[in-house]
Amino acid sequence: MSIQNSRLSSEDLEKNFSDLHPPFDHPEGALLEANRCINCFDAPCTKLCPTSIQIPLFIKQIASGNLKGSAHTIFSSNIMGGGCSKVCPVEKLCEGACVYNLLEETPIAIAKLQRYATEKAIDEQWKLFTRKPSNGKKVAIVGAGPAGLSCAHSLSLEGVDVTVFEKEAKGGGLMTYGVAAYKVTPEFCEAEVKYITSIGGIEIKYNQELGKTIHLDELRKKHDAVFLGIGVGIARGLQIPGEELQGVEDAISFIYNLRTSDYSKVGVGDNVAVIGMGMTAIDAATQSKRLGAKEVTLLYRRTEQEKPCTDVELELARLDGCNILWLSAPKEIIGENGKAKKLVCSKMKLGAPDASGRKSPVDTGETFELEVDMVIKAAGQIPFEDLVTKSAIENKEGKIKIDKSGKTNIPGVFSGGDAVNGGKEVVDAVQAGKDAAEGILEYLKKQTGK
Ligand SMILES: Cc1cc2nc3c(=O)[nH]c(=O)nc-3n(C[C@H](O)[C@H](O)[C@H](O)COP(=O)(O)OP(=O)(O)OC[C@H]3O[C@@H](n4cnc5c(N)ncnc54)[C@H](O)[C@@H]3O)c2cc1C
Repeated sequence: MSIQNSRLSSEDLEKNFSDLHPPFDHPEGALLEANRCINCFDAPCTKLCPTSIQIPLFIKQIASGNLKGSAHTIFSSNIMGGGCSKVCPVEKLCEGACVYNLLEETPIAIAKLQRYATEKAIDEQWKLFTRKPSNGKKVAIVGAGPAGLSCAHSLSLEGVDVTVFEKEAKGGGLMTYGVAAYKVTPEFCEAEVKYITSIGGIEIKYNQELGKTIHLDELRKKHDAVFLGIGVGIARGLQIPGEELQGVEDAISFIYNLRTSDYSKVGVGDNVAVIGMGMTAIDAATQSKRLGAKEVTLLYRRTEQEKPCTDVELELARLDGCNILWLSAPKEIIGENGKAKKLVCSKMKLGAPDASGRKSPVDTGETFELEVDMVIKAAGQIPFEDLVTKSAIENKEGKIKIDKSGKTNIPGVFSGGDAVNGGKEVVDAVQAGKDAAEGILEYLKKQTGK
């Protein structure tokens, strides 16, 4: 048993990481699907979209052959509508709300239709928006993730000159470095960033890290306002003995490697245990399996009923052949020659509800063991507590506190996205960026009277 790369042929790896939800083969397919939509009044799909995309309208525009109008409708509400069409958990959002579900029929393939319109716009670089002439106001944005990019686009539209400072070498945030490779490719992420910034008035400065190469005070002095869209940090530790052993990895680093190297260069074990049952855990498990791991086991300390991932995500893990262990918590990792060898797990039972409202896991005292050579930690992420505390930004365990307009306790400093909510979805971060842009525009107006 050991961690190895190149477990599968390059053809198999390519196949395993290809589009999970392929696009329409033919425009007729899109037309047929668009014509199924009954254009509900007060559409539930729009209500459940955090960015409130006018879904029946963009579908009607596809049905009537107005693809540019359709892309415009989508991007007006969600400038990352292209990426969201690939990564949104639509089963709990727009498609989950489609009235066809009530009739026990397949919901409209909203994401696929959204992808149809937006991919064409990005591929062909349709110029759908024109920014107002520059008004001389300058805003610094830290983080080129969905929150930062959406905020940048909304501000630039209004004539604000935006500079984005990003610590990585590419934009897109977790879209580029976190989301599973079979949902969105690095090439698409790059094209999406290029498309968003093609409006003009947005400069991205890469390899610039807040707290190291740039500092909040300096940004505040040189700009009229600052938006912090720094997301959350690394995976939460397990706080159990053996965590330092070789073969124990955090899910974010594992996925980051996968997103930034050849699949054939990413090592994976024979027997992989993944701790957690959120979207990150599912992604780490399914991608381990797709890299060629023999056995992948997901462990969760509660039951299926309390799981944080969606049914669709769980089904994907099952279809990929991952084992699922409910009511199981890691207790100790036992090593041999410095390498992880066994995972000792506690059997849990459910107790009284905790602060989250879910029944709490209680240790029964019984244990069992799993043979492992790799343990992936995916039990949540920790915010950048040190960074925000050092900058004197009011926060709760690192999660930045804001008011309704995105304002922090520091004048002229705004925030949104994962940095504030502790980790939700791309579409929530996009909306947070839009909301903060509104707050910033209001603030700038008050400061300068125009
Ligand atoms: C493994 C994984 C899989 C996911 N899968 C999905 C999915 O399938 N669908 C979905 O909708 N959501 C998914 N999410 C969640 C989604 O990616 C995030 O909610 C979303 O990206 C948050 O956007 P953001 O802009 O707030 O933060 P981020 O995307 O994290 O962007 C923050 C940006 O700030 C930069 N940054 C951080 N610190 C600094 C600093 N000090 N100085 C300068 N720049 C800095 C980062 O490099 C990054 O580019 C997933 C998350 C993870 C971890």
